[in-house]
Amino acid sequence: MESYRRALDEPVAAFPVVEAGPTHVATLKTFHPPLAALEGRRLAGARRRGKHLLFPSEDGELVLHVHLMSAGRIRYHRGGEKTPKSPAFRLRFEGGGELVLTEAGAKKRARVGLYQPDDLEEELAHLGPEANGISAEALARIAGAEGRRLHPFLRDQRALAGIGRAWSNEVLHRARLSPYDLTTDLSADEIERLARTIRETLEAGLELRLRGAGDAKAYRVHNRLGEPCAVCGTAIARVDFEEHTIFYCPECQTGGRVLKDRRLSRLLR
Ligand SMILES: [Zn+2]
Repeated sequence: MESYRRALDEPVAAFPVVEAGPTHVATLKTFHPPLAALEGRRLAGARRRGKHLLFPSEDGELVLHVHLMSAGRIRYHRGGEKTPKSPAFRLRFEGGGELVLTEAGAKKRARVGLYQPDDLEEELAHLGPEANGISAEALARIAGAEGRRLHPFLRDQRALAGIGRAWSNEVLHRARLSPYDLTTDLSADEIERLARTIRETLEAGLELRLRGAGDAKAYRVHNRLGEPCAVCGTAIARVDFEEHTIFYCPECQTGGRVLKDRRLSRLLR
């Protein structure tokens, strides 16, 4: 999301908005103020909070909020460039540039809303601290609050903001920690290592994204079932847990053990 933010920051602020919309009926989540309130205003740039993209108006009165969920993509098209036919959301600027949100697949889950700043703050108040700047001390405090499995913990935006399921896989692989380990069982050294790995992994991922790398290049374990681990050569394994698919290296992360699908074993017990 940070790579999106950096790519959009300058172009969205270059010209005032001339036309806000149309949006897909399932994508727009707010009605007051109406989207048209953006027309004639200039945006101050692009900001980010966790996985949320924010576009405040320069006058400080409104904030456009965008959450891409898993299948949404957002791009700025310069005037005259070819743009998608049926975008989920579009913002047209003076000079002909367009900010366009598209979403693959039939399910429309990406979200767009226009807020007054205080209302948006309330909307995002549940988010934990930003993952990319997390200190070992802060992580120790959050992790120690409640015993939770590491993979769902890292993905939980209330605990830490900014990590999704793909980067949870990547972080845990690099930190050599099992996705099923409990947060409260981690030693001080492991917490330190996990905090450092979160920062380094997100930084490295951002570098790759900024250089134009796609998923295949950015991920070492995510969606790589059966491929050799980049560190030890063991085949990457997969396990389903609470609606999510986890990828991991049994050699690097679980001491050679293959994790059981907890949902299945619960049913069979
Ligand atoms: Zn390995």
